[in-house]
Amino acid sequence: MKMTWEDLEPACKECRRCGLCETRTNVVFGVGNRNADVMFIGEGPGENEDLQGEPFVGRGGQLLDKMLAAVDLDRNTNIFIANIVKCRPPKNRDPEPGEQEACLPWLRAQVSLIRPKIIVCLGRVAAMKLIKPDIKITKEHGIFFEKGGVLMMGTLHPAALLRNPHNKPGAFEDFLKLRKKLDELQLAPVESEPFDCF
Ligand code: SF4
Repeated sequence: MKMTWEDLEPACKECRRCGLCETRTNVVFGVGNRNADVMFIGEGPGENEDLQGEPFVGRGGQLLDKMLAAVDLDRNTNIFIANIVKCRPPKNRDPEPGEQEACLPWLRAQVSLIRPKIIVCLGRVAAMKLIKPDIKITKEHGIFFEKGGVLMMGTLHPAALLRNPHNKPGAFEDFLKLRKKLDELQLAPVESEPFDCF
């Protein structure tokens, strides 16, 4: 029997399947529209995300929100954002393969409930796990791969863009390609202007 959101979220928030449960403040379940056409998936929560229980809320998250807004996407309306692992790896290290495997069933359950048409992997770790293990994110970002009926694209992680701002224009191109693809497929339509006749 398929899990519902009502089953999934509380079960995930009590998860102790891997060692990351020992040091977390919050399980960062994910945020956004549960019927979204597009999902964004990062590698794992950082310090701010762990404290606030929401993905991508630090400086990297603010940059992500700006790039999303430029292509009429918004975490509160037409996308869903989650991570490969739901608990913060200490000192922001990469999540270990065993931690990724332990946590993946939660993400799989979210994907099977949302049924997105497009998944954007934010950064190398998510792209290697979800698109292909040998992906070279610096060379292959912005390319759409088709897997199991879902279009998948990798782009640079917002935190990496903060460290290397010269990569921002290339990453922004990926967001423009995403909007073009959404328009082609008539997905995640741009919200029409509110009706205002007074
Ligand atoms: S990272 Fe995932 S698998 Fe590990 S304890 Fe947290 S929710 Fe569970």
